[in-house]
Amino acid sequence: MDEDRQKIIIVGAGMAGIAAARELCKGHLFDVKILEASHRAGGRMFTTDVDGVPVDLGATFIHGSTNENVIYELAKQFGLISGSGEWRPMWNESTTSAILTNGEPLPSKTVLECWEKFLSVTDEDSLRASPLWAQQYNDLYSYLVAEYPKVLEKDDSTKEILKSPYYSGIFECFLKFQATLEGVAECKCSGIEGIYCDLPGIRDVRFDEGHAYGCLLKMLLEDLPKDTILYSREVVSINTESNPTMVKCKNGDQFEADHVIVTIPLGVLKRRCLDENLVSNESPLFVPPLPADKLKAIRDLGFGQLGKIMLKFDQEITSRYNLAPLMFLWRPEDKEDPIIKQSFPWATEFITLERIYNTNLYETWVDATSLSSIESASEEEIAEAISYVLGKMFKHPVPKPVGVYKHGWSSDPLFCGAYVTHLAGVDTSGCIFTLEQPLYNNRLLFAGEATIKEFYSTVHGAYWTGVREATRLVKIRHQLNSRQS
Ligand SMILES: Cc1cc2nc3c(=O)[nH]c(=O)nc-3n(C[C@H](O)[C@H](O)[C@H](O)COP(=O)(O)OP(=O)(O)OC[C@H]3O[C@@H](n4cnc5c(N)ncnc54)[C@H](O)[C@@H]3O)c2cc1C
Repeated sequence: MDEDRQKIIIVGAGMAGIAAARELCKGHLFDVKILEASHRAGGRMFTTDVDGVPVDLGATFIHGSTNENVIYELAKQFGLISGSGEWRPMWNESTTSAILTNGEPLPSKTVLECWEKFLSVTDEDSLRASPLWAQQYNDLYSYLVAEYPKVLEKDDSTKEILKSPYYSGIFECFLKFQATLEGVAECKCSGIEGIYCDLPGIRDVRFDEGHAYGCLLKMLLEDLPKDTILYSREVVSINTESNPTMVKCKNGDQFEADHVIVTIPLGVLKRRCLDENLVSNESPLFVPPLPADKLKAIRDLGFGQLGKIMLKFDQEITSRYNLAPLMFLWRPEDKEDPIIKQSFPWATEFITLERIYNTNLYETWVDATSLSSIESASEEEIAEAISYVLGKMFKHPVPKPVGVYKHGWSSDPLFCGAYVTHLAGVDTSGCIFTLEQPLYNNRLLFAGEATIKEFYSTVHGAYWTGVREATRLVKIRHQLNSRQS
């Protein structure tokens, strides 16, 4: 019976790889191994422990609270979300005040109206409903620069903001917020017409306090047979010229496979499959090289870059200023501050500072603009920078955070970025469709967030792709069995 079992190698133990393995292990039809390059499972789900509080340094939200979202359903089932999971209305009048980077207060009601209007112009549905914008503007950036002021102009209260000297700071903060969703610096080059599909229900669900993606991961892994995942096995070659396919790891281990499911991130595919990105001592990942249409899809598809930093203070720092979350509304002259310019010029890239539940933990996001400098900055430098900038805003010294936690998604060679993004002028749907197609009579299959056109860039998207490829193999297996009997 065991000899009958087909050998399946899954490359990568992120959500796609784990979902595929769970599905394939159900019927005992397959001998499944996941080869994972790092020493941990989860990939871009990465939870760290900060004094007993699980903190996500990668994926944070579940996008869509509906029974169509498998991740939401699982989180509910595992008791990780008790209520609706609603996190917070992003910014609202009772919790948010707006201040400039020199501490000058702004009319927060009006700033929030501007924010609402910004959301209305960046909403995926309204962008989809206005395909003409895509013809009129090169990218999301030029669309927002031109169209957003027109929307503010229509309303007497927000019209005033346009004429004010602080409009640039407000627009820049909102733009950079959007840029973290797009994964593209200041949304320059981002496509306008959205192709990503929002699931119904609450848009950004968060796990209950005390839970995080790591808890979901732990539950999912419990269902996998022991030793399904082999860690520290970076796959360096997948040879489909040999029969069966031969998968080689950097440490010298080799595995035969009837089918291989590749789930490694698009950034890594770009690095390992496109000749121009290969460094001298690296050999191509695939033997033979992937067909030209696959390579073109890998080249053309955008892979977004963004950063997320968690900060732990020894006290609560924002509530007495009614600043939840805090927006960094920069005045151009504050960016010229000699200390900032000389010691941490990238500090002007912080966008918001948001408190995590009732803890002294705060998260801040940065777009791709100065990401490499921020990823390479030391924890001490980041602590100093944030305390300096907050001190200027609050007009009194703010203690340095006692802990800084981040993961360099762009600089980590096992990821090379954050998630797929839709770039202007790129047929993203077409590229994703090409990328997801299996090759060589289903001996080589592709899963992962970059292979699902409606839900790319998400954990639930990644999960579905794993199930999709597992189901494909199960069907093939059943067809084979019925032919043989
Ligand atoms: C900062 C950040 C915030 C995010 N926020 C959200 C969010 O709030 N909600 C949401 O739904 N999604 C979010 N995402 C996206 C989400 O995390 C991903 O879409 C999803 O986790 C991808 O899963 P995957 O299985 O496709 O890939 P991954 O999780 O990247 O798994 C791929 C695995 O392959 C391994 N690997 C790479 N190269 C090799 C090799 N050569 N050999 C063997 N193994 C290899 C990697 O180590 C990794 O473990 C975020 C991502 C980032 C970076």
